[in-house]
Amino acid sequence: MDVKGNLATIEANIKAAAERSNRDAHRVNVVAVTKYVSVYRTKEALDAGINHFGESRVDGLLEKVEALGSYPKWHFIGTLQSRKVKEVLPYVDYIHSLDRRSLAKEIQKRAKREIKCFVQVNVSGEESKHGLSPDETIPFIQSLTDYPLIKVVGLMAMAPNTEDTNKIRSVFQRLRELGDSVKKLSVEHAPCTELSMGMSNDYEIAVEEGATFVRIGSSLVGNEK
Ligand SMILES: *Cc1c(COP(=O)(O)O)cnc(C)c1O
Repeated sequence: MDVKGNLATIEANIKAAAERSNRDAHRVNVVAVTKYVSVYRTKEALDAGINHFGESRVDGLLEKVEALGSYPKWHFIGTLQSRKVKEVLPYVDYIHSLDRRSLAKEIQKRAKREIKCFVQVNVSGEESKHGLSPDETIPFIQSLTDYPLIKVVGLMAMAPNTEDTNKIRSVFQRLRELGDSVKKLSVEHAPCTELSMGMSNDYEIAVEEGATFVRIGSSLVGNEK
């Protein structure tokens, strides 16, 4: 399928999911995850009208930025090594994987402007997943007051690897509740109005549960590589 066709399907599904949960579908941003595909395919996505792009590796991000320029919004969604921070900072609009103090410290040190960050939470507790435990999340966010260039716009999580949609849903619900608790702190550096959750197989559930950024690779641009 061409990206345009896939996007139309996904947008219709998002609209339906938003209606089921009385949400405004316009609050949901589609981030095209291009880590599996070529520059050519990524350009097709830009031409289809997508303006948020996500990459999980530094090399992939730099390659796509070089080809597409800085007009679209760039999201870094993968694990970020501290020593790579300076390479990505000039290009990224959002980092979805803030999960430790040393990374926050490096971002603060290298950034030349405010960086929008999602704090990654390992809600399901699976060992293979990165992120803070739910219990660590609020103390971590409170500790970021000394890092004025980090704006915690929201929380990010990945659903567990399971077919059990109830389990997936409960992870997204937990993230939303945690995000609401952060919002209630009313701290300036952490408005926490956004939720980055939902991928190709579970974005509809994520939208029903409050996602404002869904990160979609395979079912939008494919996984040709
Ligand atoms: C690869 C990836 C995605 C997209 O995965 P799909 O299942 O192909 O949609 C989303 N988020 C993160 C963090 C990823 O690494």
